[in-house]
Amino acid sequence: MGGIWTQGLIEDRLCSCGTRFSCCPFWQAVGSTSFSSLGTHDIEAIVRYVRSVFPARKMWRLLSCRTRRKLVSSAPANFLDITARLYQGMRTVSTRQVVVDSSKLATYFVLLAHVSVVDVHVIHLVRDPRAVAHSWRRPRVADPDGRSTMPRFGAIKSAVLWLIMNVAVEWAARRLDLPYVRVRYEDLVEDPARIVGGLRSGVLGDAGPDAGEAGGLVEENVDLGVVHSISGNPMRFRQGRTSIVGDADWKVGPRGRRVIVAAITLPLRWRYGYR
Ligand SMILES: [Zn+2]
Repeated sequence: MGGIWTQGLIEDRLCSCGTRFSCCPFWQAVGSTSFSSLGTHDIEAIVRYVRSVFPARKMWRLLSCRTRRKLVSSAPANFLDITARLYQGMRTVSTRQVVVDSSKLATYFVLLAHVSVVDVHVIHLVRDPRAVAHSWRRPRVADPDGRSTMPRFGAIKSAVLWLIMNVAVEWAARRLDLPYVRVRYEDLVEDPARIVGGLRSGVLGDAGPDAGEAGGLVEENVDLGVVHSISGNPMRFRQGRTSIVGDADWKVGPRGRRVIVAAITLPLRWRYGYR
């Protein structure tokens, strides 16, 4: 939900339910439940703030206690209160106790950890950096309307971002003493029922589809319901019966790029079991 202010309110992107953010019944209901008095000046101040602190290249700032405090203290005066009302609205409208927020930035959960009504649990989904670099290099349209594209990075920038973003998540979760679990993408696609079942018995609780103990999972297939994600990978628009299949395209093609990424990410890559 880190993108609700820019991709949602400002850019009015497609929600993954298929309608524009401004027309999505779920977000309309959340808005009317949470924000009867939210003014234009409130939104503009928050948008300025999130655009200044959310870029992935700035995640290194979370490694210092002083800059973490500054991140929170520099937020607009009512930002934490507005965020609290936003999450309470999502819980009320969805009638769920758990909100699965697919935001990838450690900055965002550091801010959420300061919101009194939100109990943050961090699920850290990691993937082999060579696969991530391959994915970040491919030209892809983000939304079916063609209005936005996924960002593209070269090998060196991909490797550095992978390091910064993953170190920041681990470090910030530990420093804030938040419940934390790390999941490897490769393990998830190999045995999704086991991984999701473990998460549901732990941090996810009642989140996810009701069918089946592992969240609608039957072997490698999942029944995807309607969700209301505002930005991210284009696969967020998929609904219905979907096969979970690992993407191994990165293992073919020029070797040079994989070698560069592997060298830059070596210590953390080995720690995550990617040899
Ligand atoms: Zn929607």
